[in-house]
Amino acid sequence: MSDANKDNDEADEDKNKPIYTVWHGYNVVLTENCHPSEMRKRESTTPPLNEAAAFSNNTTQRTAVRRSSGKLEDYGWLRQLDLRNDVPTIDEIRDWKFDVLQFEDTVLIQVFIKLLEYYNLLETFNLDRDTLARYANEVMNLHHKDCYYQKVDIEQKDEEVDEEKEIEKEEEEKDNSKSDIILCEYHNWYHAMSCVHTSFLFLTLGGADEYLNPIDLFCIIFGALIHDLDHPGTNSDFEVKRSTSLAKLYDNDAVLERHSINMGLSMCQKNPELDCLKPFKEKEKEYIAHYVGESVLATDPARHGGIVKGALEFVEKGAQNYQQQSSSTTGESDSSEASYFDRSNPKHRQFIGRLILHSADISNPVQSSFDVAADWAIRVVTEFTRQAEKEKQLQLPVTEFMDGLDSKYKISKLQIGFFNFMVKPLFHTIGILFPKLKMLEEWGVKNNLQYQAVIDEHDLEQKVRESMDMKEGRVFEHYDGDKQVKEVEESVYRKSSGF
Ligand SMILES: [Zn+2]
Repeated sequence: MSDANKDNDEADEDKNKPIYTVWHGYNVVLTENCHPSEMRKRESTTPPLNEAAAFSNNTTQRTAVRRSSGKLEDYGWLRQLDLRNDVPTIDEIRDWKFDVLQFEDTVLIQVFIKLLEYYNLLETFNLDRDTLARYANEVMNLHHKDCYYQKVDIEQKDEEVDEEKEIEKEEEEKDNSKSDIILCEYHNWYHAMSCVHTSFLFLTLGGADEYLNPIDLFCIIFGALIHDLDHPGTNSDFEVKRSTSLAKLYDNDAVLERHSINMGLSMCQKNPELDCLKPFKEKEKEYIAHYVGESVLATDPARHGGIVKGALEFVEKGAQNYQQQSSSTTGESDSSEASYFDRSNPKHRQFIGRLILHSADISNPVQSSFDVAADWAIRVVTEFTRQAEKEKQLQLPVTEFMDGLDSKYKISKLQIGFFNFMVKPLFHTIGILFPKLKMLEEWGVKNNLQYQAVIDEHDLEQKVRESMDMKEGRVFEHYDGDKQVKEVEESVYRKSSGF
């Protein structure tokens, strides 16, 4: 190796070393060059922000954006949507029926800013609207795209569009196999914005904002935005199993969550154009780093049990306080509701942030509409299937629940299990702590019934098939054993071959 080459290699190595730094009291690792997904060529999917376009409410539509499942099996659960490019009103947004998947991606940047404006946070902290928009635009670009999202020219006839789409798709697939482009059908910008939106509804319609200060509200909305930044479409465990540089960097603990926190905060530090947190005072920045860090860490599935336990402790303490208050009142009954949180207690406020981000993150099964819930379900299953395939290719232990999800029946079983064991206990507790959110558990139960109907239909078909085989088998009961087996086999063959 020549000295020049050696020098180059050393320079590359230096470039790939993580840079440790501190962002206002919070340890930040500048990981730009050390994440596997950064090592591939990141195609810049969106041009630099055109602010005029980003803020324009002009609804003149030159292109339509559609969702299509393409060649992927979606079992009819992925909706085919023509996406809106107008900015929704705050009344539309403050509604459980609001569905981020109905909008073009750039529109959601404005939705994010509208939520901050709803709480007057731009004025309160003197935040710059353009910088916030640039930051959110960068966050959007740092999420990997799904394979469903595509722009088409609406002036073309549908058949021509479809043909062109097919060719594009095939080319894209070829490119993907060569360059190993990461596709995230679930952990993409839409999931980030779904989490932002649901967190906002927990605050405003759920009444959690009563217990929080303006800076906490900012941290929750901001934290939800960055909580899955640069998600590779596979989970933290996949990083740990492969002993990646990222897993080592974070000591195998909440690997992807820590990566997202660091990226989200260090972006402000690295690029003044994106420093949306600049107007905050030093003490506030320290508070934000801690609050956002803790809230995003709460989205690590491994922390689920601790959060449910913590929520139950608040329920118990609240009930005790309520009883004490009631018994101290003489004569007249106390009609006030039990209060579980104390706004003056920072630990209470931080717990609410953790609870909201974790709950919003796994809130897809409690959507008010089954169609929306199933759309998200098929997305997450697509990612699971891809991870299981990768694990097989790399001869790693395969994550059992991600493997073999190749029918509506199996996906329904997975969804029911996930709801019953994780989502339902959490949302039941949330319904006690925030009574205005009680209906979420009920919506989840209702959605579960639809999955159960798929299972029942499958089981019924199975039973009918078995009983038909038995019935035909019984006709030949008087024959000897071998002949009976042969006849049953023939009857099955006749049915399966359409006779
Ligand atoms: Zn998430």
